[in-house]
Amino acid sequence: APRVGVLALQGDFREHLGVLRELGAEAVPVRRPDELASVSGLVIPGGESTVMDKLSRAFGLREPLLEAIAGGLPVYGTCAGLIMLADRVLDAIEGQQTLGGLDVTVRRNAFGSQLDSFETDIPMPVLGEPAVHAVFIRAPVVESLGEKAAAIGALDDGRVVAVEQGSLLGTSFHPEVTGDYRFHEYFLSKVRAA
Ligand code: GLN
Repeated sequence: APRVGVLALQGDFREHLGVLRELGAEAVPVRRPDELASVSGLVIPGGESTVMDKLSRAFGLREPLLEAIAGGLPVYGTCAGLIMLADRVLDAIEGQQTLGGLDVTVRRNAFGSQLDSFETDIPMPVLGEPAVHAVFIRAPVVESLGEKAAAIGALDDGRVVAVEQGSLLGTSFHPEVTGDYRFHEYFLSKVRAA
């Protein structure tokens, strides 16, 4: 079984550990550089990207994470994790940094207070039928993609909420809370292929 990590500084990392274990992976929380070095794939969970950014620096994980991403480690970011993987962020707080890797511009909290949270079905050709039931919680949206990144899922109005670039995956929504684990399976297939 592949050994995969979930960044466990903040956010809903326990849910991702549970899903990955259900799928047969050896899943471990990652808080230290030596833990990061021991995994062959990483999930960055939902939570609060500004806090995750600060904690990654406080825990001495920022540089190791940058090196891992540059080295081709498969990484899947959900929601705040997608923000962490984005090269560019709109509506960031002052001084907020991301790790980058995905050639995209995301906007934080893109759905505003009226629509803090909502659910909808997203057709996702890379996962086949049926459409993915997606839960959005103070979610970011992908406002634009550079030429290296590909959109793999969008809302009815065309706004992009799932992206892929080489070994990196990002979703605005939270597959770990729906019981539909095809996105985690897709991530694990990338880990196995890497
Ligand atoms: N709004 C959060 C942020 O900017 C993301 C919310 C989430 O991960 N559910 O980081």
